[in-house]
Amino acid sequence: MVKEKIIIVGAGISGLSAAYFLDKQNTVLESTYYAGGLCRSFYEDGFTYDCSGHFIHIKDEKIKKLVGKLCGGIDAVKRKTFIHFGGNLIPFPFQANLYYLDDKIKKECIDGVLNRKDIEINNKMPFIDWSKAMFGSGITKYFMQGYNEKLWSWDLKKLTAEWTGAFVPKPDAKTIIESAYKKNKTRYGYNSVFYYPKTGGIQKLIDGFLKKVKPVYNAPVEKIDIKNKTLFTSGGAKIYKYSKIISTQPLVELVKEIVNVPSEIKRAAAQLHSNSVRCINIGVKSKNGISKILKGKHWIYIPDKTIPFYRVGIYSNINPSLAPKNSYSFYVEFSSSNGVYKGADSVIETLKKLKFIASDDEISSINVVDMPYAYVIFDKNREGALKTIQDFLKANNIFSIGRYGAWEYSFIEKNISDAQKVFC
Ligand SMILES: Cc1cc2nc3c(=O)[nH]c(=O)nc-3n(C[C@H](O)[C@H](O)[C@H](O)COP(=O)(O)OP(=O)(O)OC[C@H]3O[C@@H](n4cnc5c(N)ncnc54)[C@H](O)[C@@H]3O)c2cc1C
Repeated sequence: MVKEKIIIVGAGISGLSAAYFLDKQNTVLESTYYAGGLCRSFYEDGFTYDCSGHFIHIKDEKIKKLVGKLCGGIDAVKRKTFIHFGGNLIPFPFQANLYYLDDKIKKECIDGVLNRKDIEINNKMPFIDWSKAMFGSGITKYFMQGYNEKLWSWDLKKLTAEWTGAFVPKPDAKTIIESAYKKNKTRYGYNSVFYYPKTGGIQKLIDGFLKKVKPVYNAPVEKIDIKNKTLFTSGGAKIYKYSKIISTQPLVELVKEIVNVPSEIKRAAAQLHSNSVRCINIGVKSKNGISKILKGKHWIYIPDKTIPFYRVGIYSNINPSLAPKNSYSFYVEFSSSNGVYKGADSVIETLKKLKFIASDDEISSINVVDMPYAYVIFDKNREGALKTIQDFLKANNIFSIGRYGAWEYSFIEKNISDAQKVFC
C-alpha cells in the first residue's frame, strides 16, 4: 500500500495545473501513457497537430505570464475567422456583418431584428428562442440555427442559452442593422487576439508543466471507496490512501467509480449529457500553395447543414512552423450525439468539392482524434443535477474540476485558474 495525501485524477491541463500550484504532497494518476488530455499535440510526417486547434485566450496577466514562461514563448495572433455562407466567406460574427449578404437575405435579417418579440431575455431560455429574441428570426435562420445544430448535435429547443456568455458576440439592434449598410470594423469576441506557443503546438504548455509535475501514467482510477478513503487503479493492482481527491475526469465517470454511491447521485448523473467530436487532422503537400478559400484564415464556421462538418481550422496559418515546407495543415470537426459521424469517411471528397483543397493536392498525412466528451449539454436539468453531485462529492473530500469534472464549457485559462483555487 502506497501512502499518499492528495490524489489528482487526470494529467490534462486541469490536473497538471492543480499539481503545479499545490505545495502539499500529491500524486497525479493518469489513465493513458501521455499527459495533456485534449490539450496536447502530436507529430506526424513533419506536421504538428493539436487535438483540434487549441488556442490560448487569456485575460489574467499573471496567467498569461505563467503560460508564456511554461511554453517557452507565445505569439499574439490577431484572429481572422470567417463564415462559409452560400459558397462565399463572410467575416465573423454573422450578426455584425450583414453587409456581405445578398439583398434578399439581408432584408430578412433586418426585418427579423426589427420584428423581434418584446420579451425579457434570459439565458435559461431554450437557445432557439433566445436567439430569435436576441438577433431576430433571419439571423437565427441563416446562421444561429444551422451552426449550433451542427456544433451541439442537440435539439436547440432543449439546449438552454446558459453557455452563450462570452462565446456569442451580442451587438445591439442598431449595430446589427448598421452592419447591413456599412462594413463593420469592430473586432468581436473573447478571442479576437489569442496566443499560441512559438513552436511545438499546444504541447509546449504541457511540457512546461511536466518539468515540475511527474504524473503516474497507465494508472486508470477505477474504484473509489469514500468510506475508507481508498482509491484503486488498474484492476485493483495499486491502492492509494487519500485525504482529498482532485478529480478532472468526466463527472459522470467519477460517479460510476464510487463504491455504494447513493441512488440520488446516480439519478443526478443520469441527467447530465454531452456530445462528442471527431477531429480529422490533414496535412497537404501542394505545388500551388494553400487554396484561395483557406488562405490567411484561422478558422471557418460552416452553418450549411448539407456539409457534414461544423468548423475547419488551419494550423499552418496560425503558425507556419506546424507544417513542413510547401505544405499546409488543417483540421475538420464533426460533432455527434450518438458516436456516429456522418460524412467523416468522405471528408476528402467533400473538401475537394468545396475547393478547400485542390484536386491535385497531395494528402501527405491524415489522422483522426475522437473526443468522446467534447461539449457538455446545457439543459434545464444540468444546474440542479450538478449541484446535487458536487455537494455530495465535496462532503466526501472529492473536488471535481476542469471542463468535464465541473461539467462546463470552459477553456485553458479557466482550467488553470480554477485549479489554482481548488480548495478556496
Ligand atoms: C473541440 C474542442 C476544441 C477546443 N478548443 C479550445 C481552444 O482553442 N482553446 C481553449 O482554451 N480550450 C479549448 N477547448 C477546451 C479544452 O480542451 C479544455 O478546456 C481542456 O482541455 C480541459 O482540460 P481538463 O484537464 O479539464 O480535461 P481533459 O483534457 O479531458 O483531461 C482529463 C485527463 O484525465 C484523464 N482521465 C480520465 N479518466 C481517468 C481515470 N479514471 N483515471 C485517471 N485519469 C483519467 C484523461 O486521460 C485526461 O488526460 C476545446 C475543447 C474541444 C472539445
